Amino acid sequence: MALFWETGRAHEPLLLPPLQHSTFNIDYSRPPAPTAHPRPPNPCYNFLVRKWWVGCFTGVVLLYPHPASPAELPKDTIAVARISPEIRAALTREYEIEALVMPHAGDAWTRLARRVSGDASKWEDIAQFNGSDDNLRSGKAIRVPFSLLRAGLQREIISTLFPHDQTGAAGWSHMVVGGRGFEGESLWKIAEWFTGDGANYAEIRKANPTQELSTRKGELILIPRRLLTAAFSGGAEGENAPKTAAEVRKPENDPAQRSSADEDVPEATASASVGPSLTYERTTSEPYAIYRLQKGEALYSSVAIRFTGRVYSKDVGDVLERIVRFNGIEDVARMPVGYRVRIPMDLLLPEYLPAGDPARLAAEASRRASAQYAKRARARNLTGVRVVLDAGHGGRDSGTAHGDVWESIYVYDVATRLKRVLEKKSAAKVSMTTKSTSIGYAPADSDVIEAEQDHYVLTTPRYLLDDAIVGVNLRWYLANSIFRRAIKSGIEREKVVFISIHADSLHPSLRGAMAYVPGERFVRGKYEKRDPVYLARAEVRERPTVRHSPDDALAAEGLSRGLAESVIDSFERSKLKVHPFNPVRDNVVREGREWVPAIIRHNLVPTRMLLEVCNLGNRRDRELIQTRKYRQQLAEAIYAGIVSYYEEGRGDVAVAGRAAGGGR
Ligand SMILES: [Zn+2]
Repeated sequence: MALFWETGRAHEPLLLPPLQHSTFNIDYSRPPAPTAHPRPPNPCYNFLVRKWWVGCFTGVVLLYPHPASPAELPKDTIAVARISPEIRAALTREYEIEALVMPHAGDAWTRLARRVSGDASKWEDIAQFNGSDDNLRSGKAIRVPFSLLRAGLQREIISTLFPHDQTGAAGWSHMVVGGRGFEGESLWKIAEWFTGDGANYAEIRKANPTQELSTRKGELILIPRRLLTAAFSGGAEGENAPKTAAEVRKPENDPAQRSSADEDVPEATASASVGPSLTYERTTSEPYAIYRLQKGEALYSSVAIRFTGRVYSKDVGDVLERIVRFNGIEDVARMPVGYRVRIPMDLLLPEYLPAGDPARLAAEASRRASAQYAKRARARNLTGVRVVLDAGHGGRDSGTAHGDVWESIYVYDVATRLKRVLEKKSAAKVSMTTKSTSIGYAPADSDVIEAEQDHYVLTTPRYLLDDAIVGVNLRWYLANSIFRRAIKSGIEREKVVFISIHADSLHPSLRGAMAYVPGERFVRGKYEKRDPVYLARAEVRERPTVRHSPDDALAAEGLSRGLAESVIDSFERSKLKVHPFNPVRDNVVREGREWVPAIIRHNLVPTRMLLEVCNLGNRRDRELIQTRKYRQQLAEAIYAGIVSYYEEGRGDVAVAGRAAGGGR
């Protein structure tokens, strides 16, 4: 899935943890995310890194309340980001961005210019900007204007200063940081940063029709892809091979990165033995678990992916680096069977923590309570069941894209096939959330599908899918409206299901399906959108505010988990690939944050899931999804999963052996 768009991370501040050392006049701080076991800030892992300027790419903003040498900072600096030991970036009250680069001993202007701008001939500009002569003095930081920095550095600085920014198919989405008591950064500034020319502000304004000329904190500004400079236009999701990471890591030294690059990586599989056993050492300053490496197991999959829940390439790489360093491992490719891998405890998923650990107990209690609240309905042949199908992305939002393979196009085809199967074989009524003008709901008659961009959300009036964030929000508003109407017409609450179909972009060693359900601890409080684009739609006006009571949230987690497990079981019965570890998850873990995707978070349908049918980051999965046969198999397996969920019914929950507290 293209996480940005589904999670609405950028406009869902409640789900973000506060930044470390939030500082100055910019109030970047947010209420903390309800993580079960808070993780410490990522330390700096630079042991694999050879190039001097790469100290620390943690992906976490480091804003220092007390910069080491304030005298060197531009006047009116309101935020500082540490990019590497040698490079910091300052954001001023006038929204100027500058890099502060510490020269090496014996450095020359040309060498410094080449490092930071990619072009040695820019040295004169940089020297002039600093009012310096031909000689570069070490020990004093050099100021480099943002416009002179090379692309990778620009992107790194922007991503660090503005952690809510995201990139998607439509372009770059910038969240205005603003500040207390003064206006947010101007569209002109935003145009300068992202397009290289302030005059493009007019084009940006066109792309954000409801945006006023002045900006306010928290507003989202879309910079259309066609306007973006090279720094910001690459990498639709910025995840699997971030430019900066690709540039800074020597592939031969970094198994995770090498994997991403050529995908020549063994598939991660769960070992045959049941329940991997861990022992724990809690008396050291940094407590850890110990896992003995089994025959044929690789560190990245059997340890990094399995025990920490990380699935995104960069996350897997980061965790792997930390484990390698923690253990002093010299060569990950040559680790003996039986090697005792020490895994820092704060990396572990709750279920792998020691029995009795508060975080593990909390997770178990939540699981038990949600199963108890979940009163599953029974329906033979899906009689009286309403299925709301949501094909992820669409229109100009391609989702994850690997070459010509767009997530949006292939998951739409799976959805149309599922619709057809449901209507042909069962008594279920199907509602779709989107439709393609040219395709309608006819499954493709070819293996490779030509990309269409004419999908719209079926709200009243309809919304031609342009802005992916708006698209996601309108989908759940629509689903909530369909749900209300279904209840009014006499359908039981538990007989409505919502399934959002996606395809993932994960570490290439991973294959198969994975399901997300709304973990109750992430689904609390109220949420609403009141921008004109939303209020123009009847489904939003009907009830702009969505609220989940704690009981509703608990029941939804339990019901949704039941459905997700039925669907995943069905995939296994059909011999379709399933994610090797934890195929049903109640939250996304990414870059140290945890959240539930917006499409199922704000959704009121009690039984709901987001299904990733495969991992487009894996070559084999990518080949398979480009065949009609596989897409049909996927649809049939989802169908069979829904059927068995309703046929298991209440009495059989205990037999299914999945949900604790069954047998009611
Ligand atoms: Zn997606």
